[in-house]
This record gives sequence, structure tokens and C-alpha cells, in this order.
Amino acid sequence: MVKVVKFGGSSLASAEQFRKVAEIIHSDESRRYVVPSAPGKRFKEDTKVTDMLYGCYELAVKGKNFEKEFEAIKERYNSIIDELKIDLDLTAEFETVKSCFIGRAGRDYAASRGEYLNGLVLAAYLGYSFVDPAEMIFFKEDGSFDSDRTIKAVGERLMTIERAVVPGFYGSMPNDTIKTFSRGGSDVTGSIVAAGTGADLYENWTDVSGFLICDPRIVENPEPIRTITYKELRELAYMGAGVLHEDAIFPVRKAGIPINIKNTNKPGDPGTFIVESTSQKPLYTITGIAGKKGFSVVNIEKDMMNGELGFGRKVLEQFEKNGISFEHMPSGIDTMSIVVHQSEFGEREQEILSGLHRNVHPDLIDIETDLALIAVVGRGMKSERGTAGRIFSALAHAHVNVKMIDQGSSELNIIIGVSEKDFEKAVRAIYEIFVLQRL
Ligand code: ASP
Repeated sequence: MVKVVKFGGSSLASAEQFRKVAEIIHSDESRRYVVPSAPGKRFKEDTKVTDMLYGCYELAVKGKNFEKEFEAIKERYNSIIDELKIDLDLTAEFETVKSCFIGRAGRDYAASRGEYLNGLVLAAYLGYSFVDPAEMIFFKEDGSFDSDRTIKAVGERLMTIERAVVPGFYGSMPNDTIKTFSRGGSDVTGSIVAAGTGADLYENWTDVSGFLICDPRIVENPEPIRTITYKELRELAYMGAGVLHEDAIFPVRKAGIPINIKNTNKPGDPGTFIVESTSQKPLYTITGIAGKKGFSVVNIEKDMMNGELGFGRKVLEQFEKNGISFEHMPSGIDTMSIVVHQSEFGEREQEILSGLHRNVHPDLIDIETDLALIAVVGRGMKSERGTAGRIFSALAHAHVNVKMIDQGSSELNIIIGVSEKDFEKAVRAIYEIFVLQRL
């Protein structure tokens, strides 16, 4: 059994957190490959080392003195090394980083040092080998991730090493410069290492016990999600449920490796399992509820619209021409609605409207703004009758007016559009009916 374990920034923010991490790793022989993030926040107002590095590098590029800021970064690592009495001296490493900053080694290089240095500290503390991902995680010339080459290289390199720490977040370009993934990208590295080593499980350790059925800022103490499929997660992540970097799914999914989201501060909690498919019956009809505010709907009406060949295409063309992608498109016989991101649409609104008037000659165009979309997601919906009915009766009881409904053809989700002011109320009503009343 081989497990790849990734620890997020808050799990490695201080000496105390390092101790917890070491205990977790040492308690299970199969936790052989460890992917750390850079030290994150120790308390709410604290700054992540990654952000400190970006700030420092910015000063370096402007030719300003960054001594004080750099000292603060050194202090983050040295305090961990000192407190844990790790036999490691990073002086030479810090000097190299500093001169590379002065030599403008790039923003990505700067940010990547957070993980690199933390990897050195963690490897020394655990007594594991240190493997630099620059040697085996590759990007292509155009900046996209080179999956095939990387997975092969990771497998070959790590096969010969019993236990290793591989810093997260970065890899190298064909010209050997450093490139990072987008923010939160250590999750992706963990997934790549799991796929490359053919691990049995990818454990992603963070500061929450997995995914919750809905946002805890809306519903107090929502129940955790024990098992979720990759598809369900995609739906929820798209609608704003964070925790795991979106791209972290692909490498392990391709290799059929499940992900277990775990809490470093509560290692006994089972967390959430993310799997390809499962025979496990979900506890509730729905797996999760997520949503976002900030949408507009363009409603177009025209008599006999459904008989007009190419009508839909002409409508969408106006959005495409203006670089606006649409999120949903519910339609009736003589009506069609295009749901778009309000902020993007606002900038091109008049161009699109005049394009629509000129090209499709509608009877009426009406725009609604300040709309929120809520996704109710669950593999359990397929085999249940009346899910939509229950959602709408719950919303009616909560006095929420439903402005739009869109059920995905996979019967995995139902998307509901409500006015932004009703958003929280609607989420609570849906949670209540499916979870609290266990329907
Ligand atoms: N340290 C990087 C960030 O703050 C990457 C990560 O933590 O996954 O985004």
C-alpha cells in the first residue's frame, strides 16, 4: 500500500503544526511520499509565505531594498527549525534565493521558493529524501502542463526512493526556468505524485474535515460529505465550493486513485472520499449545495421563435463575438434566456443588445440583474422521484421566488436562479428539507 500525502499551508504554518504532520506521517508506514505547501497563515491576520515572497520579489524587480521583507521570510523558516531543533542550516539557500531575486529569476521562481524551502525543512525533520519537482514535473513551451512526460518521470524517479518529500506548486519549463501552477497548486502536485507512483490513495490534508454539504457561513455546522464522486465535485466546485484545486482531480482520476480530504487538526475525522463511482448509497438524496451571486439574465422573446431556423445560433453568436461565454440557457417555445456573469456582461452590454436587435429582430429583450445561481447536486437524485418538487416546495415555503430552473441531462444537478437577496434563505431552505428533515 502506498499513500501520497499532501499538507496545505495552514498544516505547516508553525512548529506546532509540523509536529502534528510528523505524527500523522509516522503513524502509517504507507505514507511514503509527502507533498508540502509553503507555510501558510498561523492566525487570521497572518500572511502566507507565498504572498511574502511575491511582495519581496516585486520590490526586487523595482530595484528597491527588500532586506527587511526577506528577513521576515527567513524568520518563518528559522523559527520552525529552531523550535523543532532540526539539524539544518538554510543560510546558503537563503543567499541563493536572494541573489536570484536580484537577478530577476522570475515571479514564479520567487513564489516556488516557499514550497522548496519548506520541503527542505520537512525532509530534514522527517528523515525523508528531498526530491526537487523541477527535475520531474514539466511544462510545455506554451506553458501547459506536460502530463505524459511528467507522470513517466515521476514514476521513474520515485520508484527508487523509499520515502521522499516533494515540494508542491511548481515544476520546470523546457528552458529550465521555474513555473508554478495557479494558486493552491500544491494540490495538483500531490495528485501528479500519486498518479506517477501509482499510489493506492491520495490524502490531501488541510484544516477542515473534508467537504461540507453547504457553506458554513450560510448554514451553521452543516454536515460533512463522506463520499463524493468526481463528477459531483466538478459541479459543486464550479459553483464555488473550494477546498481542492480544480486541476487536482485530473491526474488521479485518470489513474483511478481516490482522494481523501483530511483534517490535520482532527486526524481522527474520516474526512471526505472523492471517488470515480461508488455503490455506497448517499445518506441524503443530495450530496451538496453550492452557489454563486453575480449573474444577469438576458430574456429574449419572439413569436414563432421555435420555428425560426438558426435563431439560437444567431443569439449566441452575439455573445461569442463580444467574448462573453454563457453559463446557462433555459428556453421556452417563444422565449430564450441567456445567463451570463454580470461583471463581464456589463462591459459589453450595449454592443450585445444592438447586435441582437439587428440580427434576430426580437419582440422584446429584457435584462434581469443581481441573480444568484444555486446548484443542488447529488447522484442520489437519479433514482429518486420528486426531488425537484421538494426543492420548489421548500423554496415556496421560504417565500423565495424561483426565477430560473435548469436540470442537467445527467440528472446529477438542478440549477436554480433566485434573486441575490434570497440566496442565503434559499440555500438554508434546501438544506433543511433534505438534510434536517432527511427527505
Ligand atoms: N503556496 C501556494 C499558494 O499559496 C500553493 C499552495 O499552497 O498550494 O497558493
